[in-house]
Amino acid sequence: MIHFNVPAITGKEQEYIAQAILNKKLSGDGNFTKQCNEWFENHFRTRKALLTTSCTHALELAAILADIQEGDEVIMPSYTFVSTANAFVLRGARIVFVDIRPDTMNIDETLIEAAITKYTKAIVPVHYAGVSCEMEVIMDLALRYNLLVIEDAAQGVMSTYKGRALGTIGHMGCFSFHETKNYNCGEGGAILLNDNSFVERAEIIREKGTNRALFFRGEIDKYTWVDVGSSYLPSEINAAFLYAQLESAEVINSDRLKSWNLYYKLLRPLQEKGQIELPNIPMECVHNAHMFYLKVKNLEERTALMAFLKEKGVMSVFHYVPLHSSTAGRRFGKMHAEDRFTSQESDKLLRLPLYYNFGEDQIGRVVDSIYSFFINK
Ligand SMILES: *Cc1c(COP(=O)(O)O)cnc(C)c1O
Repeated sequence: MIHFNVPAITGKEQEYIAQAILNKKLSGDGNFTKQCNEWFENHFRTRKALLTTSCTHALELAAILADIQEGDEVIMPSYTFVSTANAFVLRGARIVFVDIRPDTMNIDETLIEAAITKYTKAIVPVHYAGVSCEMEVIMDLALRYNLLVIEDAAQGVMSTYKGRALGTIGHMGCFSFHETKNYNCGEGGAILLNDNSFVERAEIIREKGTNRALFFRGEIDKYTWVDVGSSYLPSEINAAFLYAQLESAEVINSDRLKSWNLYYKLLRPLQEKGQIELPNIPMECVHNAHMFYLKVKNLEERTALMAFLKEKGVMSVFHYVPLHSSTAGRRFGKMHAEDRFTSQESDKLLRLPLYYNFGEDQIGRVVDSIYSFFINK
């Protein structure tokens, strides 16, 4: 059977976890956490990176930092994971969903301005499949309307837009290291703070609302409760695992891209015959091969293809049920203007197996199965 995902293992994870145990420091913010934070700061050029327990928690931290209050509005695509919305709903925000572009499945930047009201506080672009949203337009709107931009870059680690790392373009960015993402530690995340003014408060919120980070750096002589907060720092065991992955980030990235490119090349003839649609990577984006998806005619065809692939031992999955049509989405938000593409395009999308060390033979098998499905169509 061809699994949909197998978490990446680079070989150094056990050694680093053993080292974390020997260090006799297993709670958060030990050496491995520091090394991970510095790795992001050095490779992606952000003011400050802080590991968190998940991307969900990084988004929650961002929502507190953005000072989201009851009744504020936050703009995001409906085609995203629940955590993108939940983080802001937890602060009392109303979610304003904006339609997506069918070519990238990202928020349609040309529709955002019309959704801005006097209640709007933030825009949350989601870089679907590790392919960047049109950030120049989004940052320009943020500047003109005095809004914060929080990038949900859960899928975008190692991707760039006009040469800049995803997660470092908005005021804040959030990463995920869940086992289904390119670099993982089982469960984990990070927040990138691209503006110095957020750094001190982020450290406080992440440490239960205390100024403990300042205390450990010797900047104050005792630590106390100074703000709202929670516990968003991961264990050193997780950080040790993640650091092994970061050291191999280039290897993982190029291996995934090789698989992605092979899928693309082999499936292109089907696109040319008009039977499927393949992902579009805009000129200004360099992606990280987080995901390989294709789109078919409609929901019925997708359901049939998924079942056909399963029979052939190939596990494929579809993605988000658009949030604006979900029970909680209807309660906490609304679609701004027309749902032209969100529902229609999400019904057509199917994700194919892709992971580190996937291998050409397996890609060949997946592609052959897809061709046999379409042979009589
Ligand atoms: C995976 C994902 C998340 C959540 O990440 P966790 O680390 O599992 O909390 C949030 N947003 C998007 C777009 C994701 O793909």
